Formats: sequence, structure tokens, C-alpha cells
Amino acid sequence: MNENNLDFSSADVSRAVPDEAALQHAQASLIPALPAVGLGFEDVKKHMLDDISPGFTGSSRCPNYYAYTTGAVTDAALFADWLAATYDQNVHSHLPQETVATTVEATTLSLLQQLLSLKESHFPGRIFTTGATASNLLGIALGREFVVAEAGRRNSLPSPTSVAKLGLIEACLRAGVQDIQVLATLPHSSLYKAASVLGIGRDSIVLLPLSEDEPWKFDLDALAENLSRSGVKTIISISAGEVASGRFATNGTEMARIRTLADQYGAWIHVDGAFGLQALVLPRTEEYSALNDGVAGLHLADSITGDAHKLLNVPYDCGFFFTRHSELQPTVFGNPGAAYLSTSGTSSSIPSPLNLGLENSRRFRALPVYASLLAYGRIWYRSLLERQIALARRVASYIVDSTVYELLPGNDLTKVYMVVLFRARSESLNAQLVSLLNASKRIHISGLPWKGRPAARIAVGTWRVDVDRDYGMIVEALESASLVR
Ligand SMILES: *Cc1c(COP(=O)(O)O)cnc(C)c1O
Repeated sequence: MNENNLDFSSADVSRAVPDEAALQHAQASLIPALPAVGLGFEDVKKHMLDDISPGFTGSSRCPNYYAYTTGAVTDAALFADWLAATYDQNVHSHLPQETVATTVEATTLSLLQQLLSLKESHFPGRIFTTGATASNLLGIALGREFVVAEAGRRNSLPSPTSVAKLGLIEACLRAGVQDIQVLATLPHSSLYKAASVLGIGRDSIVLLPLSEDEPWKFDLDALAENLSRSGVKTIISISAGEVASGRFATNGTEMARIRTLADQYGAWIHVDGAFGLQALVLPRTEEYSALNDGVAGLHLADSITGDAHKLLNVPYDCGFFFTRHSELQPTVFGNPGAAYLSTSGTSSSIPSPLNLGLENSRRFRALPVYASLLAYGRIWYRSLLERQIALARRVASYIVDSTVYELLPGNDLTKVYMVVLFRARSESLNAQLVSLLNASKRIHISGLPWKGRPAARIAVGTWRVDVDRDYGMIVEALESASLVR
């Protein structure tokens, strides 16, 4: 393989999604019967490059794919991902006499904490995950362990009320906990999944929006009231930023108050910063002050979720997780009695990842992050996000000035992050807006509901962003859709 040109796919990069013919060809070309005698690598390679990959979205390779928050893949990350697969390092245990892999992982986590200005001393518990869904699950699992144990401590019980040890029902009974609630505003759907998987229950997620106008903002008075419910322990989940609008649930002053309340009531604070956490790389300037405020005080959380496969532009699947309570990770995620996995005898302070998160066998997904952070550096990552925000704000400004479209949740451009949420003012146009905008296949955006009505969302997540060029393409699509009545 030529290291200088890893991208040898022949698919058309001007297509954000494949056209009908390419999709149909890809589907029809699939070989559903297992060959008794293999077809050979060369033929299969040709099949994948010529038949199948033209049926993939251009999410990484076309600059104008704006659906979900997908990110793309930098060249350095692509190279490192190939290297990770080539060497197929299983980073389950820290085995410094055998491989440097877990040391690379720990170093990468430090680099990431430097990028985000989240101190290692604040967040000694850290791990790479498969994505923000897994990280949210880790955060809620640790929160569950903490709040029930804390309830037991506050009731001066003689032995710890550990959910990990006793199980949820037994631990809660002993600690006098009748329910665990998760307080949030407009959480990502994965929070409901975490609540379901962890036995807390989806119905235990309670939304505390400040107002109808700002449903992503946390109502601190309602928070204080809910925290004081007797027999109920609380995990507070902060959306930073909210998935549809990119808005932030809190500011620095509010985070400080939430920290005080959490300490008073033995609650846990989790931050879902899947893509919002990246705003920590921005300079503190007037133009970003709303975003600076949105991520201020997040270091006061007990646990933090981030995605690397989104704005960091490394390949799927790569997320990360930070916690203040590193001591709780082995309590919840440890593999007791797995002697063959033990790293005792090594003199290192790097804990084995298999006791810190969900997976035992793990892909070496830190390597693309390591490569990308070092290859491009802090300033490049900062200016990348600035370019993404610049494009989003220019499009938002066009929408504010337009008579056809309406910017959501409101017209304040200083609050726009790298997502643009909008709708058509005409109901009939709005109903077909996303399919009209996506019709050319040269740009692709997502549709999603906002306050119960369809809306469209452009998420700028790729390093291939070029503000002038991409603004032109988006406006062209908006204008041509506006001609359809
Ligand atoms: C994308 C996203 C998630 C889920 O992340 P995955 O990486 O898809 O698991 C969770 N929360 C927020 C806010 C997100 O944007």
C-alpha cells in the first residue's frame, strides 16, 4: 500500500450520496452465497472498489455531506487506522513489557485533555470508547454506582451499598433509595438507551426545560426542587450541545450552582458533549462568547462524554470518556478473578483499560487520534472549528434574511455553533424541504422534528470545509428548493 495515497477509491467525491443507479448496482452486485473456494483477494478488492464502495455515502470524502454530525477522516487518521489494523493490537491490558500500545493510548488521552483544556488532575479516569453512546452508558453507570453508594454513606450504613456488588434492587433497598431519576433537557436518544440498559428505566428521565422558548436550557429552580425529593437519588445530565440545535444547556455560573446542589444532595453530574465539547478549543472572543459560556464550567462535572469520530475527524468508531472518579471505574467495570488478564507485577501507573470501560478486547482506536492531533496540532483544530462555525453562521445569516426560510431556534447568530437548524415558512414547502435540498445528491442534510414540526439541519463537521465554495453550494440548493411551491 502506498502511504501517500491511502484513498484509492474510485467513487465520485462530488456526490454526497450515491445516485439511484450506483446504489442499485451495488445492491445487485452483492454475492450472497459463501463461495466454497475463495474468489481471491484481487477480485474481491476490485468488487469492493468498483461495485460496493460507489454505493456508500460521501460522508467522509465529499465536503458537502451535512447529515447527522458525521465528521470526516483526516489523512493522518486514515493512515494510523490502517496501521492499527495492520498490527491489530488488542489494547485490553497494560503490558508495557510486550507492547507500547496502551502507553500510546494513555499519551493520546493526555493530548486530548490538553486540546480541550480539561486537566488530567481533574479527570484522572479516562478511556477511549466506541462512541458517545458507550460513553454516556459509562457515565450513567458510574453515576448509578455513586448515588446509591452515597445514599448508603449518608444513612451511615455499616457496609457499602454498591450496585456493582449487590445489584440495583438490593443496593437500593439497603440504602433506602426508592428511585433513581435522570434530570436532563432535550437529551440525545442514547441517554434513554443507557437508562434502559442500566435498569434505571427510560421513564426515569425527567426533562427540566427552562421554558418553551429555550427547551435546551436547564431550569435550576426545578432542579433544586427535584433534587430534594425524598428517597430519590439523582443523575444530572447536561446536553452540551443539544443534538438538533447545537445549543448548550448551561453556562459557567449555572454549572457552579449545579455542582453545589449536586454535592448537597449526593447527585452525579454527567455531561454529554459528543460534539459540543469541541467548543473548548475556541479562542475566548466576542464572536464566540455564547459558545465559550456554553462550555464554561463543564470541568465541574463528574463525568464527560466526547466523540472523536465527529469533530475530531477520525474514523468510526471512536469516542472518549473522562471522569473525576477513577476509583469507581474498576468497581463497576472490573473483571474480577480474570487472572490471565492481570497486569500485576508491572510497575506502571497506567491501569488496564479492560477494567475501566465496557469492552475487554478493544481496537487500538487511540492511534488515529494520536496521529491526527500530532500531525495537525492545536491551531489547526481551532481554525477548523472556526471555519465550520463561519460556514454555519453565513448560511444562518442567509436564512435570517430570507423570506422563504426561518432560522431555528431563533435569529441570534452569535449563538450558532456548527449546526444550522431551519425550516421553510410555507408548510407545503417545509413538508418536502429535506428531499428537495437533497435532490441533486451534491449536498446531503438531515431532517428532524423541532417542537413537533419537521425541520432541516445542516451540520458542518468535515475538515474539507471551504467556506466560500460550500456557502455557494448550500445557497444554490436553498434557492432552487425555494422555487418549488
Ligand atoms: C452523536 C451523539 C451521541 C451518540 O454518539 P455515537 O457516537 O453515535 O454513539 C450522543 N450524544 C450526542 C449529543 C450526540 O451528538
